[in-house]
Amino acid sequence: MKRSSILLIYTGGTIGMKQDPGDQTLKPFDFGQILEEVPELQKFAFRVDSYTFDPLIDSSDVEPSLWKELATLIRDRYEEYDGFVVLHGTDTMAYSASALSFMLENLAKPVVFTGSQLPIGVARTDGKENLISAVEIASAKDPQGHPLVPEVCIFFNSKLLRGNRSTKVSSEDFSAFRSPNYPPLAEAGINIRYNQAAIRKPLDWEAPLRISTELDTSVSILKVHPGITPQVMRYFMCGDATRAVIIETYGSGNAPSRQWFLNIVKEAAAMGKVLMNVTQCMSGTVNMDLYATGKALEKAGVVSGRDITTEGALAKLFYLLGKSPDNDWVKARLGDDIEGEISF
Ligand code: ASP
Repeated sequence: MKRSSILLIYTGGTIGMKQDPGDQTLKPFDFGQILEEVPELQKFAFRVDSYTFDPLIDSSDVEPSLWKELATLIRDRYEEYDGFVVLHGTDTMAYSASALSFMLENLAKPVVFTGSQLPIGVARTDGKENLISAVEIASAKDPQGHPLVPEVCIFFNSKLLRGNRSTKVSSEDFSAFRSPNYPPLAEAGINIRYNQAAIRKPLDWEAPLRISTELDTSVSILKVHPGITPQVMRYFMCGDATRAVIIETYGSGNAPSRQWFLNIVKEAAAMGKVLMNVTQCMSGTVNMDLYATGKALEKAGVVSGRDITTEGALAKLFYLLGKSPDNDWVKARLGDDIEGEISF
């Protein structure tokens, strides 16, 4: 079998940060120092090349332009490598992994995001283990020579999660990510155990990778809360610059039943806005048929996001809105399972 090769893409994040002696804050340092801290990478029987973004960033500064750069890099190097590992800050990793899952169409190779809670130069770092396992997973093949995980995913603290199902759940624990509505794709112990039934396989292994980089970001996120006012709500939902609104609702997709609330939803729907219902709960699904307050939203023109994460919903909307100026077409596609982001 041909020797595997992995491209390690370094975008920034805590994994590669060091304390600035001046203001004592963490700032990214260059990739050479990461490699020095992880000599184990040289023990692999396969080639690990690297690509460093310039400038390196704290992932709080991530913008869709970085996703476009990442997707283009992966497309340009796709034939050369068996898998890709993206070193990325944890703060927006779930957003980036969700976005790339849609942007990389016909993906048949692993794209594994990872990072760490403690910098790699610190004695108790979680970065080494995360990086080494992510590289191993990106290179893993089945007996036919196909990659074991041909998906965009996140490896963190011994768990491999589907990228567009993941969310950051802790700013302190090593176990910083979870995919509450989907089982882990793999778990690393003495061996890495792959959950084959949960992993998506491409319909056609040979289909050429396509990238979709036209994203339309005219989306707002409205978190429903007691005390919400008509002014705030109208600002989020009816602005000219907004094509779509993610309404983060209570429980199984419920919202206040007050008439002014429903009137504003109807007003936004009549303006042609795409309105998507996503639950504020950490797990579970939107079901607008369960309570009268959910049913009223559905009648007013809100579409169920089912069990999608807010990160996944944002990425799905950016991607679909970027594909067409027709909001009705986008609405009709929201219920499709495009990249394993929702369950039925
Ligand atoms: N602020 C950092 C970032 O997202 C945090 C991290 O990497 O854990 O880049």
